[in-house]
Amino acid sequence: MDNLTNLNISELHEGYKQKKFSAKEVIKNYLENIKEKDGVISAFLGVYEDLALKQAKEADELISAGKELKSLSGIPIAIKDNILVEGLPATASSKILKDYISAYDAGVVTKLKENGAVFIGRTNMDEFAMGSSTENSAVRLTRNPHDIERVPGGSSGGSAASVASNMTLGALGSDTGGSIRQPASFCGVVGLKPTYGAVSRSGLIAMASSLDQIGPFARNSEDAGEIFLAIQGKDELDNTSSNINYSKEDFFGNNLKSTKQLTIGLPDEYFADGTEKEVSLGIKTAIEKLKSLGINFKKVSLPHSKYALSTYYIIMPAEVSSNLARFDGIRYATKEHEILGKEKSSLLDVYLKERGRGFGVETKRRIILGTFVLSSGYYDAYYHKAQQVKALISQDFNNAFKEVDVILGPVTPTRAFKIGEKSSDPLSMYLSDIFTIPANMAGLPAISIPVKKYEIDGELPIGFHLVGKKFREADLINIGRYYEKI
Ligand code: GLN
Repeated sequence: MDNLTNLNISELHEGYKQKKFSAKEVIKNYLENIKEKDGVISAFLGVYEDLALKQAKEADELISAGKELKSLSGIPIAIKDNILVEGLPATASSKILKDYISAYDAGVVTKLKENGAVFIGRTNMDEFAMGSSTENSAVRLTRNPHDIERVPGGSSGGSAASVASNMTLGALGSDTGGSIRQPASFCGVVGLKPTYGAVSRSGLIAMASSLDQIGPFARNSEDAGEIFLAIQGKDELDNTSSNINYSKEDFFGNNLKSTKQLTIGLPDEYFADGTEKEVSLGIKTAIEKLKSLGINFKKVSLPHSKYALSTYYIIMPAEVSSNLARFDGIRYATKEHEILGKEKSSLLDVYLKERGRGFGVETKRRIILGTFVLSSGYYDAYYHKAQQVKALISQDFNNAFKEVDVILGPVTPTRAFKIGEKSSDPLSMYLSDIFTIPANMAGLPAISIPVKKYEIDGELPIGFHLVGKKFREADLINIGRYYEKI
């Protein structure tokens, strides 16, 4: 019974139905993995054994009552610490939220509960999802399970590392500029950023609201697709959420023949110099494999992609500065604040002290940058201009999608880097997301799929990146499924 954590969702459900093992046994196996590994990896900020075992029992009760399993019954899912679960802490890995307890469930958590998922724990992240290595967490350092001297990527590093080390089957993360796909690539797991609006953002601690999306991590594309299906669609509490409701058949009924009819575009701009040679090689081998499936390739151009990173570093901080204004030290107050209050400080004192010591360096940098670009006199020169460039980036994708169905490239220019290597050089850290940001700018679905291990030189994982048409997550998942089967 020691390999229950290697089974995928459909294998687990088959096993539950045939009473080969119970959900309780599976969850216990995962909890044991956490005990054994998380002392070193540090992916979790909180693990909820009693809650997880109680939810596992619900799955076992369905089986013993002869009822149908729900789509995620008895499946453990970890949740990034910026997604609210009623009654539990949600800190976004920030000191300013260290005593906050969620007052309600995020839309995705409600949907996970309705679908029977087992909530196994909260995962570490860069503070307020700002970063590419999880080193900006005010709580702890998460290590890459493939090499513990290296970062797991970020900002959803805890979610990626927890899935990569079999401490959970799946996890949720959030992606504003690459925070699901880049850590998925660094940790060798699948990470899907859905179309903007495909998944509710209600109860997600906002970073940059026009770009944020919640999405799944899993060890393979099919499981990632299953988790996406469970969280997709309308939520009355997020009016940017769409009315999609894909069925399992829409996703997994696709045979190889229909997947082969897709044409994949290779943008010249994503294959320029500056990418680590192992990454370029890994991507090349993935392309060769996909060609061997019979999928067609075509060159395309995304000429404005080169402006995506600089545009992102105007739009994102502008929205950050406005979203983070609510953390004033009074709402969501920490316990120390109650002591401060007794010192009869002025209101300004409270703001300065609480924000000064509650936010980390990177968060402050972005609040300051965002406040500047939104300030009167600069708004048109920066924010307005950036919005216009954002529209051009979207237009590039629209043009390319007249000729191809999906676009392929690298996820990141390098493999996982060493802990500390980039933490004192924000610009080189920002460059980590050069290939992932354009999909956020255009609101398109995108996925990181691990290049098969035996094809690459060395031990560090590499992901290949697929960007699809709006609401065509199924194309990305199906290409992944067939690639994984070769
Ligand atoms: N790494 C990027 C940043 O630092 C993206 C973050 C994210 O997607 N949340 O902003």
